[in-house]
Amino acid sequence: RKAAFAALREVPPVTKDGHRVTVMVNAGLRDDAAALDTTGADGIGLFRTEFQFLVSATLPQRERQQRLYREVLDAAGERPVIFRTLDIGGDKALPYLNVEAGDEENPAMGWRALRLSLERDGLMKAQARALLEAAAGRTLNVMFPMVSEAWEFDEAKALFEAQREFLAGRGKRLPSEIRYGAMLEVPALAEQLDLLLPRIQFLSVGTNDLTQFLFAADRANPKLAERYDWLSPSILRFLAKLVGPCREAGVQLGVCGEMGGRPLEAMALIGIGIDRLSITPAAVGPIKAMVRSLDRAGIAARMATLLAQPPRDLRTVLRDWAAQAGV
Ligand code: PEP
Ligand code: MG
Repeated sequence: RKAAFAALREVPPVTKDGHRVTVMVNAGLRDDAAALDTTGADGIGLFRTEFQFLVSATLPQRERQQRLYREVLDAAGERPVIFRTLDIGGDKALPYLNVEAGDEENPAMGWRALRLSLERDGLMKAQARALLEAAAGRTLNVMFPMVSEAWEFDEAKALFEAQREFLAGRGKRLPSEIRYGAMLEVPALAEQLDLLLPRIQFLSVGTNDLTQFLFAADRANPKLAERYDWLSPSILRFLAKLVGPCREAGVQLGVCGEMGGRPLEAMALIGIGIDRLSITPAAVGPIKAMVRSLDRAGIAARMATLLAQPPRDLRTVLRDWAAQAGV
């Protein structure tokens, strides 16, 4: 099977009825960029910039950040890289940074990610400079984590734009284009979709966090791991509602949580109209194989019926459908 997946490296993920699916990889360290070549993925859909901070004994200075970003962009070449700004805080506290939020009862819902970055903006300014300089002459894709309200996106973007003007004023070479996006992982943001969409170029759903918040179920608690299924009507209906508005606004919609790396889940996502996936590199082969055996019109019709009148065990129903359809 491994050899069969490797052979898929050169072939695009196209459904049987000719629909091209975008399959990108999640990455975080410099060596992860090599996965682009070994998997034949379309780009890096989620570059977790906090990894460099988490593996470092001291705060990575701007030059070190910039070097990493440039190396990743060099490795990616023409393929897009979406850099997510720091998602630290809460349980990802950095000992060398005085960003302790105190003892938080619920770190996942605590002072983390963009909440922390907007207050400790020195960190984010340095990161913005590093990203802007690393992407000189190229397209820079920036994505903010844990956006809960549209104004948070505005503040984060304004911070980047101020750094861009600063660099322009000093005659520095700038990115040829900056594309801004948000992660949707806090359910409240979905209720501000109409406000958010005109502001962004892409929206990426973090289904790991989204699921824990939607179900009020800690993603790290093994007692709950099996209980709330990604193939639940709640998750899939929630995601399905994003598709139309994003399409109308011309905003690229994708999923970058682990959900997209599982064949049955990815099949369901394609069925509801989400065809941009960013997944763990090891999943690229299996997902490509699934896509190439899938009839998109067929799964779209099936998903519409199933979400209108959901059975209790959607997973089993979808597994049976896939088996029958030869997926
Ligand atoms: C997510 O929450 O789904 C996500 C992709 O971000 P992370 O797993 O890094 O929190
Ligand atoms: Mg997340």
